[in-house]
Amino acid sequence: MLKATKVRIYPNAEQVDLLNRQFGSVRFVYNTALHIISHRYHRHAQSLSAYHDIKKLLPIAKRNSRYAWLKESDSVALAQACINLDKAFKRFFKEKKGYPRFKSRRGKQSSYHCMSVSVGDDWIRVPKCSPIRAKVHRHTEGKLKSITLSRTSTGKYYASLLHEVEQPVVAPLKKVDASKVVGIDMGLTHLLIDSTGKKIANPRHTKKAQRNLNRKQQALSRKVKGSARRAKARLKVAKAHERVANARNDYQHKLSRQIVDDNQAVIVETLKVSNMLKNRKLAQHIADAGWHALLSKLDYKASEQGKRVIKLNQWFASSKTCHCCGYKMAEMSLKVRSWRCPECGVAHDRDVNAAINLKQQGIITLKAEGLSVSAHGGLRQSSSEVAA
Ligand SMILES: [Zn+2]
Repeated sequence: MLKATKVRIYPNAEQVDLLNRQFGSVRFVYNTALHIISHRYHRHAQSLSAYHDIKKLLPIAKRNSRYAWLKESDSVALAQACINLDKAFKRFFKEKKGYPRFKSRRGKQSSYHCMSVSVGDDWIRVPKCSPIRAKVHRHTEGKLKSITLSRTSTGKYYASLLHEVEQPVVAPLKKVDASKVVGIDMGLTHLLIDSTGKKIANPRHTKKAQRNLNRKQQALSRKVKGSARRAKARLKVAKAHERVANARNDYQHKLSRQIVDDNQAVIVETLKVSNMLKNRKLAQHIADAGWHALLSKLDYKASEQGKRVIKLNQWFASSKTCHCCGYKMAEMSLKVRSWRCPECGVAHDRDVNAAINLKQQGIITLKAEGLSVSAHGGLRQSSSEVAA
């Protein structure tokens, strides 16, 4: 099993110079490879692979005096740029993601190293560079496989350490207590609504910081292009973004930890986020909530404990189906937050009803997978929630 830890590093002036040149070389290789592939395709209808065709050109380029400066960099890092581009193309073709884009010198920079890397109490080491001072919080047992260096757009340097660790495989739970199964609906008015009726408000980190960000963005747009003041303003914008991202990430870690610790199985609905992002009105909320990131945190935290995260298909109309009698409403606009079932007369809170449906459907899925689910954990009626 591979375990990643990220540590802050503090390169000295000389090392900063070297790392920046290396990031530049990695970016150069990536962008040049992308240019060659695009050009060959458009002009000559020839499909080149970044992995099979372009990577081979690196040693040839280094022999050419024009590109001799590439020799300064760790060759592994340059080869990895080709591999990363290859992955970006695979995502484009197989997962219908966007066409690979050129890397900007203003964005996040990174370089990958896996040969002759090491880590000490307060330093890390990569090829062609003296040991770099690092803040290593705790040591990971196991073999160090790779180090990925990065520089954020705010000018901080990090090293991502990948260790191969032997971890006892946690056997997945065979028995689940129904009261420890939770259905979670990811709402718009709230970040989460669970099948017990608990609603967790959207932290809206971005919204709070939005005004601050807007102001800094405006200040940036007023500065003359290429000026030192513009560079300064851009850094301020990047720092504001960074704070928002860090706060959201921390929050997601705490929330997912709590959900996994309190339950044995978590049932969620997969959402076609990319589809929903097309709706501009919803886009802010969705990006804000960071659903996808939260789900992946839930996923790995659960698997560490042998617990389950079940993702149900979207076709399962969880908010329109009455969880008591199964009656399905034909139409329900997003504005409708509560409704009464015409069949059995039970009043529903839209989101809590959906979460209960997810839980019930999830229990069926767990049973179908051969898990034993203990009898009723006492389903709560969503009607009690609408009173307010
Ligand atoms: Zn009903």
